[in-house]
Amino acid sequence: MTFLTGVNRITTIDPTVTAVEDRVCHMKLDKRTSKFKSEYKGETYYFCSLACKKKFDEEPEKYLEFYH
Ligand SMILES: [Zn+2]
Repeated sequence: MTFLTGVNRITTIDPTVTAVEDRVCHMKLDKRTSKFKSEYKGETYYFCSLACKKKFDEEPEKYLEFYH
C-alpha cells in the first residue's frame, strides 16, 4: 500500500520551478544544471552553450521580442 505516498511526493515537486528555455535555440534546460546564463533587465536567462549566450548578449531584444 504505497500508492498514496508516491502521489504525494510527485505533487510536492513543481517541475516548472527549475525548467527554463534557451531563448536562442529554444532547448529546454534545467536552471540548476545550466552553466551559461545572462542577466538582462533584472531577469536571468539560461543557455545550453556559450555560443547561445553570446548571441543573446549581442542582441537580447531580438530573442526576447517573441515572448512579449
Ligand atoms: Zn542553445
